[in-house]
Amino acid sequence: MKQRLFTPGPTPVPEETLLELAKPVFYHRSPEFKQILSEVVADLQYVYCTRNPVVPLTCSGTGGMEAALTCTVPTGGKVICLISGRWGERWRNICKAFGFNCISVEVPYGQAVAPAQLAEALKQHPDAVAVCATLCETATGVGNDIAGFGKLVASTPALLIVDAISGLGAMECRCDDWQVDICVSGSQKALMMPPGLAFVSVSDKAAKVMAANPAKVFYLDLKKALAKLKESDTPWTPANTLIRAMRQSLKILRAEGIETIWARHARMAEAARAGMQALGLELFAERPAAGLTVAHVPAGLDASTLLKKLEKQYGLKLAGGQDTLKGKIIRLSHMGHVDQFDVLAALAGLELVLLEMGHPVEPGAAVAAAQRVFAQAVAPVPVASA
Ligand SMILES: *Cc1c(COP(=O)(O)O)cnc(C)c1O
Repeated sequence: MKQRLFTPGPTPVPEETLLELAKPVFYHRSPEFKQILSEVVADLQYVYCTRNPVVPLTCSGTGGMEAALTCTVPTGGKVICLISGRWGERWRNICKAFGFNCISVEVPYGQAVAPAQLAEALKQHPDAVAVCATLCETATGVGNDIAGFGKLVASTPALLIVDAISGLGAMECRCDDWQVDICVSGSQKALMMPPGLAFVSVSDKAAKVMAANPAKVFYLDLKKALAKLKESDTPWTPANTLIRAMRQSLKILRAEGIETIWARHARMAEAARAGMQALGLELFAERPAAGLTVAHVPAGLDASTLLKKLEKQYGLKLAGGQDTLKGKIIRLSHMGHVDQFDVLAALAGLELVLLEMGHPVEPGAAVAAAQRVFAQAVAPVPVASA
């Protein structure tokens, strides 16, 4: 059976990139690797919409989040965490682990943090060293207003640190225009790579804060990594095989063009929402992100049976909810190496399984609703008269 991966990380990887991973291992202190690393950094800057250096780290996304905080915040330092789900909670958990003073600004699952809430928090806590936000809250499918946060944080001494791990490469994220100081991403979401790498951009403002901060870090020391990056080098043995493969995925991203990529994801998200609504499923996110679509599981249906049937009978691997959302939602990821026909396939499978489980569904309803969205992007070709 053909397997299709619709989990919000890991995501499908293009064949050209998989082939790079099959090549022989090579030495990393070499002109060849320096060349690869410099290309990767330049293409990451393109994807990040930034002139700031982007540091590759050998770890998953969370390692990048930990590096961002530990390198900039002193022991006991105050951090405002904007929390709209499990990934926002991860910022708070990192603060706890390192003894930072976390000020939580929370909204119920399914909602986005309003910039006005941040404005209020900044007024109450002018001594905050950092503000941590999440571009795409992968647990709920919500997209947060990073541009709105950036306007507020830029005029304060605080740094804006953004977890864009599942958002970058799927939805608009303009690091420089939006005044993001540190932007963290990971390889296995919209960047079309297997897990194993994190990427961290560092603004001048953030670099100055780091230079003055006696950080208690060793392996994830961004200061050290930035110094080495100036010579296209890394402090430790990098996952050079992954970085070489990353060059290929970035070439594919660059060839499509970042704004085209954002538009493709926005269209797939709109189609997925239309399809799910046509099946009578209630959407979960008030301010939906572009990389995944999250819906409530209809009352009376068992979410794990639904997901198991999709996988076992049709090879469609979607994700359920995590923690308190387990059994309550399904999550359809359409980020990265995914196209409109993958979205139609997922919706078609969902129709069949819902029918089988006794949920009233008109066969083809979801597919038709999604296809109507895709049809809007088709410009009719004028027929030449004879
Ligand atoms: C996947 C994800 C992470 C980090 O996950 P890792 O398992 O450490 O790569 C962090 N934040 C968001 C929003 C994510 O989607």
